[in-house]
Amino acid sequence: MMKKYCIDCGRGFWAERGETWKVRCISCWKQQKEQKQHANSSDHESMLRALIAKVRDLQIENNNLRTEIGFMTANGTRQSDIPSKLKAKYRDLIFLCHPDKHDGHPKAVEVASWLNSEVRNA
Ligand SMILES: [Zn+2]
Repeated sequence: MMKKYCIDCGRGFWAERGETWKVRCISCWKQQKEQKQHANSSDHESMLRALIAKVRDLQIENNNLRTEIGFMTANGTRQSDIPSKLKAKYRDLIFLCHPDKHDGHPKAVEVASWLNSEVRNA
């Protein structure tokens, strides 16, 4: 047995000759072990919180991407771009197809009402 001095509290304690790893008295060693476990579990909690937040972000991103894919057409343009382009040319298009200019032709009525609903829903 040899007398050693605790690195935390400075109190003397007894250790076997080969126990060079013993640097703390038994009460400081227990205290340090508890703190280590506590630190580990709070690390896990904050890691878990970060992961939950990350999963939530990824779910939102995934939903947005799914929605975007839903808007994609075969030629790669977005359907949502079409109404905005229609909207930009709305006055010209309605000028060209207005039923008044075509003696109330059913085709003009159909096209004008389609155009109106597309632009309204854009
Ligand atoms: Zn101690």
